[in-house]
Amino acid sequence: MKLWMGIFLGALAFSAGVLFAEDSLYVPFGKLGYLTSSFGESRGTRYHAGVDYSTEMQEGFPSIAPEDGKIVQVKMSPYGYGKVIYFEDKLGRTWVFAHQSGFSKKLDSLIRYTQKKTKKNDISIDHPKIPAFQKGDTLSYTGSSGIGNPHLHLELRSGESILNPCHHGTLCGDTLDPQILGAAVFQGEDVSITGEEALKNGCLEVPDIHNREDSLRFTFKIADYSREPLENPMSVRRVTLKKGNTILGEIIKDTLKFSNMLQIREELLWAEEADTAGDWHYIPNPYKLTKDDTLEFETEDMTYRVSKRRLILAESCEGKKPMMRGKNQKPEMFTFLSRTWIGLDLCQSDSLKTDFLFFSKGKPIADSESKPLNPCKEFAAAPIPLGKILAIFPDLDEIRLEQNGKTDTIRVTEIPADAQDFNWETEFQEKKISQNVTKLSDVPWTRALGIRKFQNDSVPAYEFHPKGLHFWGSWTVSFDANLASAPLYYLGETSRRWFYFSKQKKTKQTRFTSMNEIRDIGFIQDNTAPELGEARLDSAVIAGKLSPVVRIPVIEKESGIENGNAIQAFAKGVPYIYAEYDSEPQELVFVLNDLSQAGKSFKVRIQDEVGNVKTFEITVPTAPTEE
Ligand SMILES: [Zn+2]
Repeated sequence: MKLWMGIFLGALAFSAGVLFAEDSLYVPFGKLGYLTSSFGESRGTRYHAGVDYSTEMQEGFPSIAPEDGKIVQVKMSPYGYGKVIYFEDKLGRTWVFAHQSGFSKKLDSLIRYTQKKTKKNDISIDHPKIPAFQKGDTLSYTGSSGIGNPHLHLELRSGESILNPCHHGTLCGDTLDPQILGAAVFQGEDVSITGEEALKNGCLEVPDIHNREDSLRFTFKIADYSREPLENPMSVRRVTLKKGNTILGEIIKDTLKFSNMLQIREELLWAEEADTAGDWHYIPNPYKLTKDDTLEFETEDMTYRVSKRRLILAESCEGKKPMMRGKNQKPEMFTFLSRTWIGLDLCQSDSLKTDFLFFSKGKPIADSESKPLNPCKEFAAAPIPLGKILAIFPDLDEIRLEQNGKTDTIRVTEIPADAQDFNWETEFQEKKISQNVTKLSDVPWTRALGIRKFQNDSVPAYEFHPKGLHFWGSWTVSFDANLASAPLYYLGETSRRWFYFSKQKKTKQTRFTSMNEIRDIGFIQDNTAPELGEARLDSAVIAGKLSPVVRIPVIEKESGIENGNAIQAFAKGVPYIYAEYDSEPQELVFVLNDLSQAGKSFKVRIQDEVGNVKTFEITVPTAPTEE
């Protein structure tokens, strides 16, 4: 059956904004799909390469062929894209349908055959030998495999480029204009922040309105929602800063390149936590203050809806300002707008009365009267960029915090202005921590690094800053083996879970690992094998049909399960039983028909990422009899 729908703009309950009004639009799963993630959105160190559609928490909608073509690859994994197909259309473009629940009968049996042959759950088949598809055919079925709730991730690739499906004939549901939630203006080492209300009233605060020497740079916090209620903040297609008819700076995101996924470091400034909606879009073009400083800011979402503000630059603006630190950020040192900030506002906090002391090579930095300098008196009681402090005290290498009778230490350093690579060695308890950052970007503010020791859920750990340091290369951190007595884990910023570094190395002297972003690192000795909860009967969408399955919760708190092949299931006389590992929630899924009859048992062997293994004897649950 052909599910192609020639939906016309007028037939949809969209108020405005979708292009291609004259043509019929491609409807990827046969239903009006609202966007929940937009093209080019921030995913930490890369862009979101496609669009996500809400499937209203349901699975099993047919994913429809946008053109005549063939499936050129199919992959199965419990993480990332989950079960995914790559469909090549007659124009040579590749459409990616991720997080699928299942495939056509022919592809499904080919997958099962390959899994059985290789005794692997996670497989990838190039050019599967199945018939080609026609425009409108069902390719596979939507689901929730891999990361996230049930949704469809749709991606369009053409050679080296990744295109925005919304601009290539695909229906993208979005009924709301983008929201301009805040702005920050940089001048020298200073930053001023303006809130949503003030921007609406046409006011944009600058650090020093009388300073016509130091250029300003701008960043705007924007979120785009597709509909009410406002649930999934998305990114936008374009930001433009203008003065009269002159464009001062503009960023447009219509096409991405695989080779340029790290470009996001230049375009977005990061807050450490994703607690608040919206991304900070950085416009790198400098602007010098003049007599007449009225600017215009515009932003446009993926469906060409535009929001505008006419902004007069001012000494100060009224109203609430955007949040600087998320709920999981410690107030003493945190990352905001890709910089490290020191929370000098704590000087006046009643609950967390804090004294700061600045040190250089173990000695307190002195004030003009040769007494130890008191930062609480020297600076205003407000968060201050570490770079600003370092510009005044270039020899500063340690900040001591005295809090409720306890002393804590933050090590800090300035990265030389012209450095492209940077190596920094510092000591905690006379044990070394070295950091090496390569391919640093040129930014118009003082670049700094800071480390603080902390304890999180009884995991001894180090907090590294700033998380949003702009660099194109890698960050390698190496600990004295005595300091890091257990394997290294990094802290997931939104999940607040520790994740094992699978590529870490250990020598006699050091433990080290590399990443393309700066993270908090902790040390965990995991000697506990995964546990399984109670098996229960349930149903799941398999090849588009609701079918009985057995689900078993997996309890693995520390290292995690590396991939679906870490699970092996077998029974007497059956050397391989297909097992699916669902990473969200963590559970095993078995197709009931693959198992022995109710009451009989089969074996499951499961291994965590550091190699702890356990084998379980599972009894196939009995269906409850109806009364
Ligand atoms: Zn996605």
